[in-house]
Amino acid sequence: MRLVIVGAGIMGVTLATLARELDPKLEITLIERLSGPAMSNSSVFNNAGTGHEANCELNYTPVDEEEIAVDKALLIHAQFNVAKQFWGYLVEQGIVKDPASFIHATKHCTLVAEDSIDLLRRRYQEMSKHHFFDSMMFSDSHDEIQSWIPYTMEHRPKSERMAATKIEGGTDVNFQAVTEEMARYLSHQGVNLELNTHVKRVHKSPTGTWLVEALKNGNALQYKADKLFVGAGGGAFPLLKKSHLPSSSRFAGFPVGGRFLGAEISEKDAKHYNAKTYGKAKVGAPPMSVPHLDLRAANGRHYLLFGPFATFMPILEKGRGFVEYVRSMRLHDIPNLLNVALEHFPLVKYLVSETFKGKENMFLELENFAPGIRNKFDWKIVQAGQRVQIIKDGDLQMGTEIVVSEDLSYGTLLGASPGASVSPEVMLRCLEKMLPEMFEQEAVKQKLSDIFVSTDLKQLMTEPDVYKAAKAKANKLLNI
Ligand SMILES: Cc1cc2nc3c(=O)[nH]c(=O)nc-3n(C[C@H](O)[C@H](O)[C@H](O)COP(=O)(O)OP(=O)(O)OC[C@H]3O[C@@H](n4cnc5c(N)ncnc54)[C@H](O)[C@@H]3O)c2cc1C
Repeated sequence: MRLVIVGAGIMGVTLATLARELDPKLEITLIERLSGPAMSNSSVFNNAGTGHEANCELNYTPVDEEEIAVDKALLIHAQFNVAKQFWGYLVEQGIVKDPASFIHATKHCTLVAEDSIDLLRRRYQEMSKHHFFDSMMFSDSHDEIQSWIPYTMEHRPKSERMAATKIEGGTDVNFQAVTEEMARYLSHQGVNLELNTHVKRVHKSPTGTWLVEALKNGNALQYKADKLFVGAGGGAFPLLKKSHLPSSSRFAGFPVGGRFLGAEISEKDAKHYNAKTYGKAKVGAPPMSVPHLDLRAANGRHYLLFGPFATFMPILEKGRGFVEYVRSMRLHDIPNLLNVALEHFPLVKYLVSETFKGKENMFLELENFAPGIRNKFDWKIVQAGQRVQIIKDGDLQMGTEIVVSEDLSYGTLLGASPGASVSPEVMLRCLEKMLPEMFEQEAVKQKLSDIFVSTDLKQLMTEPDVYKAAKAKANKLLNI
């Protein structure tokens, strides 16, 4: 069976690694247009590196008529704990030599001002009932919050009422580093890793085989696939259009870029502020624009990152041009795009105004979040990655969707959130959908139970003992 994967970001490489581990007989080819794996959205500063497990992100617990819904938070937390089990396995097998090369324990905090204190308190009461979040702490004491997340409080007047929650066991993840380690392993395992190879078109031959047409250094190449997975970020949209699958006309892409303010800091400062602190999104802002101040670790150095500041850039991926985005659309997409622009006018207005936000205004927001921090460090603007949200049947969606063709031969991942953090769980589900027969094999079942304590999200949610065993094993292997 020939499995071809387009895109060597964390999604494509994770799918390849899972497939390789579960069935070493598969012939796997991984095709990437750039010169290495994880150079687009999965690259270290193209994203915020939060191990999203709903410890601190208010957008995962929406409020509807005073009711706080925790279902999404539970789902993401469970998915992240499947991810940690997989990454723990990579360490156990020596595929990743040192877990500190990609994952670090850090506090996950939420910080809100006076008008949201009651809401945060109720959210804390609701969430901490569940075994996923039973270690969450709440405080509205200035001094206590300062001891948790010093930079956000040290120079804030005591008269400003604030509240925060804290979970000690959150993570900062360098998704690039773990992807590179997996790719290195795959290249020693007989997986064909084709770099600098841009897939231009995919189509199905009359025999049912997928033909993947690509360009490498100006030369045309063709690959044949029995199963084709496109994990090409924003680049997945044009390939889906060209696939001529019936579902292709239902999808279009709505791009949202991001910028951060970033500063390198000393080890001493990193110890002082070992946290990721999430605030509250502005009215009209998309969920991924929640402001946050993050400690990041990369290549043995420490950084602070603040943002993201959303941008409206009509491109498929960072570094690709406007023309490619326009070319990725079909005539029938135009009414859908216009419909989204009209229906989500506040969002479009917000994105356009954010795009033109100057450095001074970015600093104002930073100072509002962490008074006095501007002059402490040498901040630079960091252009982050590009999310392409899904427009499906004319509706804008903020989530991720796996689209698999009816004959199961073509799979693709569209959309953005919560992204890299849940990649092992999402890619496992994708493999289950595309290769159901593989999961019938006894050897595969055995291998799955070697890798994971449990991948059953419901079981993790409802059986505290199983969850705790899975988490304890993964945390030990990951040294967090
Ligand atoms: C500002 C921002 C902040 C984020 N913060 C977080 C966070 O804190 N936590 C989190 O979990 N997630 C976060 N994310 C999301 C995360 O970055 C993505 O979910 C993840 O990187 C997606 O991985 P991927 O493999 O799908 O995409 P990518 O890493 O973009 O990989 C896709 C690959 O496909 C290649 N490709 C594209 N088209 C072709 C083609 N035609 N032929 C060959 N190759 C092709 C690209 O070159 C690229 O290498 C953030 C994203 C952004 C933009």
